[in-house]
Amino acid sequence: MDSDRNTIWHKGHIIKSDRNHLNMHDSGVIWFTGLSASGKSTIAHLIEKKLYEEKIRAYVFDGDNIRHGLNVNLGFSDDDRKENIRRIVEVAKLFVDAGIVILTAFITPFRKQREFIRHQFKGMNYIEVYVKCDLEECIRRDPKGLYEKAQSGIIKNYTGISSPFEEPDNPHLILDTSKLSIDDSVDRVLKYLKVTDFLKIQE
Ligand code: ADP
Repeated sequence: MDSDRNTIWHKGHIIKSDRNHLNMHDSGVIWFTGLSASGKSTIAHLIEKKLYEEKIRAYVFDGDNIRHGLNVNLGFSDDDRKENIRRIVEVAKLFVDAGIVILTAFITPFRKQREFIRHQFKGMNYIEVYVKCDLEECIRRDPKGLYEKAQSGIIKNYTGISSPFEEPDNPHLILDTSKLSIDDSVDRVLKYLKVTDFLKIQE
């Protein structure tokens, strides 16, 4: 019980493993981290499509989409970035409980953030995928023209330009998209899910 707010978690009749059995697969989180334009969204959405074709219930949490709705009131200050991640993590936990495989596409530039996230999903199916791509290549791709705006100072605190990206030191998987094709990256993740029995229901 949360004694400050007089709230008590209401346990339902149906629990996660019931939903997993109904779906015939386990749920969990695949957290993509990397610079803007490294390929997180592109890869996550293609994996969602492949999983859908295999009758796996999956859903992408995309950085921009979440900031359009749930986190529309948050900016890019340190506090707001923290709150952005906290809310995403809490919603992702509910989705995992609901039996869904979540694919997240957030830059998640700070080591501390990623440690916090990993800790939050302890005991759950969780993998961190570093979508690695050098800054020069990301700037060349610049699909939304955001690097250009950041370089001219129109956007402040932009990761890679005016805010740091701290490289992950122990991701479960690295996809170097300056070398791998989009399809190869997708295949690597799907293979990883297979060899680690990510979708197999744990009894
Ligand atoms: P992010 O979600 O990391 O900001 P996006 O997926 O939105 O990145 O954008 C990446 C862009 O780079 C897309 O336009 C994609 O088509 C392009 N791209 C070019 N080559 C690759 C590659 N090998 N892997 C991933 N994306 C690539």
